[in-house]
Amino acid sequence: MNFIETRGNDGQKPTSITFSQAILSPMSSFGGVYSPESLPSFDEAFFQAHVNSGYKTLAKDVLAAFEVDIDESVIDEALSLYDAFDDSTNPVPVVKVYDDLYVSELYHGPTRAFKDMALQPFGKVLSSVAQARNEKYLILAATSGDTGPAALETFKNRDNVQVVCLYPDGGTSDVQRLQMVTEDANNLKVIGIHGDFDDAQSALKSLLTSETFAEALKENDVSLSAANSVNFGRIIFQTIYHIYSYLELVRQSSIEMGEKVYLNVPSGNFGNALGGYYALKMGLPVKQIHIASNNNNVLTEFITTGKYDLRDVSVIPTTSPAMDILKSSNIERVLFDLLGAERTKVLMSQLDDNKFYELTAAELKKVQAIFAADFCNDEEGLAYIKQAFEVGYLMCPHTATCFKAYDTCREDTSIKTIAYSTAEWTKFSPVIAQAITGEKVSNDQAALEMIADRAKVTIPTQISALFSKPIAQKTVVDKQDIEKEILAFLNA
Ligand SMILES: *Cc1c(COP(=O)(O)O)cnc(C)c1O
Repeated sequence: MNFIETRGNDGQKPTSITFSQAILSPMSSFGGVYSPESLPSFDEAFFQAHVNSGYKTLAKDVLAAFEVDIDESVIDEALSLYDAFDDSTNPVPVVKVYDDLYVSELYHGPTRAFKDMALQPFGKVLSSVAQARNEKYLILAATSGDTGPAALETFKNRDNVQVVCLYPDGGTSDVQRLQMVTEDANNLKVIGIHGDFDDAQSALKSLLTSETFAEALKENDVSLSAANSVNFGRIIFQTIYHIYSYLELVRQSSIEMGEKVYLNVPSGNFGNALGGYYALKMGLPVKQIHIASNNNNVLTEFITTGKYDLRDVSVIPTTSPAMDILKSSNIERVLFDLLGAERTKVLMSQLDDNKFYELTAAELKKVQAIFAADFCNDEEGLAYIKQAFEVGYLMCPHTATCFKAYDTCREDTSIKTIAYSTAEWTKFSPVIAQAITGEKVSNDQAALEMIADRAKVTIPTQISALFSKPIAQKTVVDKQDIEKEILAFLNA
């Protein structure tokens, strides 16, 4: 299966490319991205056959349905990275929190956030493709806190790939920052910037299209790629756990095969939600996808009114920083799938030029057939965390936003919900400590201990070890100095 461009073709780039090409060069004509030309479809027999097949077998069969041009041995090795998750037989536990609310825990990998679900196998696949072609790649990752650690972890000491990770200084938790700045490998560079995540992301986007920068890379014989969710190599691994979570409920006899469910996704760049959208389109019995946001509620407005409006808005820092995002990259792939490339190009250029676009009533109807949305402010989030803790469930502030959407978005309360937990409590411990004790704790380490004591849980060693690791990455710069820093790293 080939991949085509969301904003159409400019006459320079090829009109259709393979999976491996799409992951090496994720940017397409007119600033668009690549999307599958068509989607595979799965029938009940496929789902039935995978109820007990295990995560890796399901993943392999989904990748095969997309006809990815990657050697089987590479896929096997990439998927074997799930063996290092907490439970090698079940990398994604799905647990019942309330009667009809199940939480799919996507954070049991090395960096304790859901980014590992895709980035662990993606790192292996990308490095192998680059080696096979004898090419060198630079990955520029802009992170709001979880992509960075996961990208550094997966590419650390891998051949033919270097990683530069940009994070908003002060915009991440202590744990997230430590996960990045303690990473020490020759092929990794971490840069803090004075600004927010959207600044980091737009700096990355402009670097990806900068000709002078491209020139400098050429001299170093390095090509650019990306590890954020504009890269379809991430999205493909994010369709799998939606299918798996559904099948887990079947396996646990919580639903019957074919019974429709709601998926409820805490969203920022919409990669996770897009994976759910593709799963639905490929035949997973999903009634509707509920999009949860924090006070940065652009997506809620978009899904409820059809207006994507970035005029007069700026990022509001919240207790769920991985969702402090205004320009949600993967909405573009939904528009492309529902409305086609021509219309997507018009809408996206309106967004670039006027910071605004509006769907027609007919277009909005198509979006609302699949999605509903709500947002959860920080105060409500604290209350949801406390309420869940009282029934014995510890969750992060991103996951908490789903609990609000669960309360407000369901039209049919006889339908069960799968909500996604995108990070472990350990990554945002001061917020959780405050929610369950009412006390403000400013430092992660104290908060971790407080929660561990209160909830009778242990702090995983991946987290506790961070506080005594040496700081290897010390660069923090202004936006305009990013290019210079990266070139110095490449020439080192
Ligand atoms: C990245 C992230 C999100 C947002 O996911 P998208 O795919 O960008 O919508 C939500 N929660 C956490 C903890 C994350 O790390």
